[in-house]
Amino acid sequence: MALRQDVEAIKERVDLVSVVSRYVTLTKSGSGQKGRCPFHKDDTPSFTVSGEKGLWHCFGCGEGGDVFAFLMKIEKLSFVEAAQRLADEAGVSLTSRREDGERDKLRAVVAAAAEHYAANLANTGQGARARAYLESRGFEEAAWKRYGLGYALPGWDNVKREFGARFGAENLLLAGLLVEGEKGSYDRFRDRTMFPIYDLSGRPIAFGGRAFDGEPKYLNSSTTPLFDKSRHLYGLHWARDAMREAGHAVLVEGYTDVLTLHEAGIRNAVGSMGTSLTQGQADLLGRFVQEVVIAYDRDAAGGAGAVRGMQILRNSGLAVRVAKFAADEDPDSLVRKFGGDSMRDAVRDAVPFHHFYLESLVAKHDPATAAGKEQILAQATEFYRGVRSLPLQQEIARGVGDLLGLPRERVAHVLATRPLQRAPGAGEEGVGGAQWRAEDDLLTMLLRGDVEWARIAAVASPADFTPAHRPIFEALANAPESHNISAWVVERLREQGLEEQAGVASSYVFAEVEFADLDRALEEKLDQAVRLPALERKMANVARALRTADAAGDRAAVDRLTLEQHGLTLEKSSLSKKRDARRGMHGRDEGEAQGEITSEAG
Ligand SMILES: [Zn+2]
Repeated sequence: MALRQDVEAIKERVDLVSVVSRYVTLTKSGSGQKGRCPFHKDDTPSFTVSGEKGLWHCFGCGEGGDVFAFLMKIEKLSFVEAAQRLADEAGVSLTSRREDGERDKLRAVVAAAAEHYAANLANTGQGARARAYLESRGFEEAAWKRYGLGYALPGWDNVKREFGARFGAENLLLAGLLVEGEKGSYDRFRDRTMFPIYDLSGRPIAFGGRAFDGEPKYLNSSTTPLFDKSRHLYGLHWARDAMREAGHAVLVEGYTDVLTLHEAGIRNAVGSMGTSLTQGQADLLGRFVQEVVIAYDRDAAGGAGAVRGMQILRNSGLAVRVAKFAADEDPDSLVRKFGGDSMRDAVRDAVPFHHFYLESLVAKHDPATAAGKEQILAQATEFYRGVRSLPLQQEIARGVGDLLGLPRERVAHVLATRPLQRAPGAGEEGVGGAQWRAEDDLLTMLLRGDVEWARIAAVASPADFTPAHRPIFEALANAPESHNISAWVVERLREQGLEEQAGVASSYVFAEVEFADLDRALEEKLDQAVRLPALERKMANVARALRTADAAGDRAAVDRLTLEQHGLTLEKSSLSKKRDARRGMHGRDEGEAQGEITSEAG
């Protein structure tokens, strides 16, 4: 991708330390620089910058990244805006700017298509069904015009025939209006009610199409040079002024939710186009508001995707509340049945998202039983780890403690230290905090460049790592052979939308942990993170098979498995003998002590 080269060229020429120095007073510390973090109230300098690695990280609030991430965050810029500013400084001519002419052409294509769809809605016999649908949702002709609504005709080539000669099929494809099939290209949107998606200047750049029946019910434009669903919000250009004025945005799921709220005078409503909110969308919201009120229907709001989205918003520095609806209501139905004020009440009474989350856990698991408590603790652990704010983490721990009738301090300790559940199939046995901390240390060694990749890759594979760590190890496995692997990995994780892992990875790069005897520490960590858990999984499987064979009276199998079990036990004791030998030589258990430091850093 051309932009990728631009980004590399900018990074080569722009000095991170001098960019950061414009905002933060830095003093030299070790191989890097330190200062007070500009993103949280920082009394002890916890903000670290490495010019050599091109990365920064704050140990107070967990923020971190490269020069782009810094400028985006501090100036509240989009990635492209940050890139443009840095490109000017570095004297790099951006491919994206060279492509401006092409983008103008695509905008003309999309605008023409929007007019075409609008005319179909207003004037054709086939449009009757779409007209009836919109009227049934309370949208009269004036609203169709206000929001540019339209209708895509049935048939495979209406848009292709209408615009093929004028714009060329390749431009229609590039604008996301056609799809390439085996027998040539054809219309992407057929027999659908059409909702144009606008950019911040109010120009149509893409579409959402709603089917009358059939799947998918909602179809969005594919990613095009103009549109990337993960970086746009439906209705933002109508809502931006009202959002700024109110200081908060009402975030809904679908197109008609947005329009219904706007028609009811709730003009700070925007649509996430699905419940899985992305970092790009959170950054966009953060440019206009300090608070987001989530107004999804109840099932959607409790879903894993929505909860993850709330964490992304919160970790981006926004306050997040959730509006509560009855089981059969959503924003659209509420307004149509009870009017706009009922929705305003729901927004006013919205609860902080962590309260909402804890309530939803209680609805799923019974906190009066030990099993229910276990389930709630397990799920709350993941939730807790996904939140970066320390005060909020403490509130969550207090909430869980009170909910379960357990001592708050104990709960806080468990939430902070217990290992996250492994993916199904990996086995629960033998997964301890030691493994978690050993993974921390292995990834630290790799990301700081302390050890050669091959030494760890010879023993470990991604499947050995707990799910939260796995993407980091995978990114390391894919990193090109260059001197700055750490920056590449952090950026790669961010590109994948794995903000949390990107933050964790950047914290490893700056981890202030020293391995006095690196070889010894490496072997110890590989034992704890990889060899021992693998052995224990095998042992658990054999024990299970042995029970089955025993119950079935299969003597041959029992003999074979008993032998196997004996072998594994020997292997395990040889592992611990080796460990004792290593420790004996040095006299103390350095490995354990080291683990504590890095786990604080995440
Ligand atoms: Zn900070």
